[in-house]
Amino acid sequence: MAKIVIIGGGWSGCAAAIAARKTGAEVEILERTDLLLGLGNVGGIMRNNGRFTATEENIAMGADELFAITDKCATHKNVNFPGHDHATFYNVVKVEPEVRRLMREMDIEVHLITRITDVVKEGDRITALESADGERFDGDVFVDCTGTTGPMGNCMEFGNGCSMCVLRCPAFGPRVSISEKAGGHDYYGKRADGTPGAFSGSCKLEKSSLSEKIVKELNEKGVAVVPLPKELINESKLSKKVCRQYALPPFAENVILIDTGYAKMMTPYFPLAELRQVEGFENARFVDPYAGGKGNSIRYTAVTERDPFMKVKDVENLFCGGEKSGLFIGHTEAISTGSLAGHNAGRAARGETLITLPESTAIGSLLTYEKPDGGMITFAGDEFFAHMKETGLYTTDIEKIADRIETAGLTGIYNAFN
Ligand SMILES: Cc1cc2nc3c(=O)[nH]c(=O)nc-3n(C[C@H](O)[C@H](O)[C@H](O)COP(=O)(O)OP(=O)(O)OC[C@H]3O[C@@H](n4cnc5c(N)ncnc54)[C@H](O)[C@@H]3O)c2cc1C
Repeated sequence: MAKIVIIGGGWSGCAAAIAARKTGAEVEILERTDLLLGLGNVGGIMRNNGRFTATEENIAMGADELFAITDKCATHKNVNFPGHDHATFYNVVKVEPEVRRLMREMDIEVHLITRITDVVKEGDRITALESADGERFDGDVFVDCTGTTGPMGNCMEFGNGCSMCVLRCPAFGPRVSISEKAGGHDYYGKRADGTPGAFSGSCKLEKSSLSEKIVKELNEKGVAVVPLPKELINESKLSKKVCRQYALPPFAENVILIDTGYAKMMTPYFPLAELRQVEGFENARFVDPYAGGKGNSIRYTAVTERDPFMKVKDVENLFCGGEKSGLFIGHTEAISTGSLAGHNAGRAARGETLITLPESTAIGSLLTYEKPDGGMITFAGDEFFAHMKETGLYTTDIEKIADRIETAGLTGIYNAFN
């Protein structure tokens, strides 16, 4: 049986593992921390705006398992908040153990606290990977899902220092780009002023540190919008954040909170002393990142060049998914690209023709879309969502989405060898 090795166990790595396993391969995930899901442990917003369409496209193609989990772990469904419709929020504490159980059920071997630091090659092919602890992992095909966040040096150089985010570089060691180690070509995203990378766009507060009134509103509605006093409004933060879909004036004029188990605050960081001046936030405490009063993680510092089949340029047997595979923001984007990468890794291992997704699908369109300023893109807002609306790709009609996938000949494609 062919062996496919996935490096990085975030949403893209888990999606790649599932898709690869369903092609009949033996699959291993190598993850440097003690948790799967990477940044998925701190996000939670699903199905907002065009992400609804992309979710249903994935389900129609047979990549339904992870969406079943995020739907099952929802704190709230079908919520509207400024600039965003029909969102589902998942509980960020409950979702990771569910994914771990799924990996066990599917016989996908997960190696945690396994940081890959080197590759062994023969010509243009990778034959094995080596971990920081000197372990060796052989394989036939590899998928780089290591993301683009940090490591600490980048957060210090391009951000406000290590923000102590969920990836915990000081404890588990820095992210290493496998594509670059293997001879691929990495590049970085940039902000409007040309600075490499961008700040993650949200942080989390401990709910019990907020007033009863705010907590009640969050529990009942899923969202709380608290106007900021004029002297605390800081519009300049909007241009620094990754999440262009939230770079809208209401996100600077208000504290917008979302219930993901914690109170997710839709701003990259907020000086604690200032936040505590706002009514209801007098006792506020950050739970992610721990230094959310000062900064946030820096992302998009290691995207790699790839082809439409998600194969890394100039490396014969390396595919890529998630943020590694483009300037894509989001869990849904990571699952979409990871699923295609894992499926094609499986096809490559079987000697089958690789597939790509056509522009008649929202996911296929995202894969080839480039913003004129080279910025980050998402189904959930900004220019790509406008493009989805203009071209008729955006719809919440599930039957219409299933028909679109059927017309493209892609119904159940991820189960083709299952
Ligand atoms: C604070 C915050 C809030 C967010 N909120 C949302 C949201 O609400 N909704 C949404 O859709 N998106 C959200 N996002 C964005 C979303 O989380 C990411 O775009 C997406 O999850 C990226 O997934 P990924 O698999 O590409 O990368 P990652 O999640 O970064 O996963 C990469 C994994 O690779 C591991 N790794 C790296 N190097 C190595 C190595 N050498 N060896 C082994 N393992 C390695 C890392 O430890 C990590 O687990 C948020 C992001 C942040 C930071």
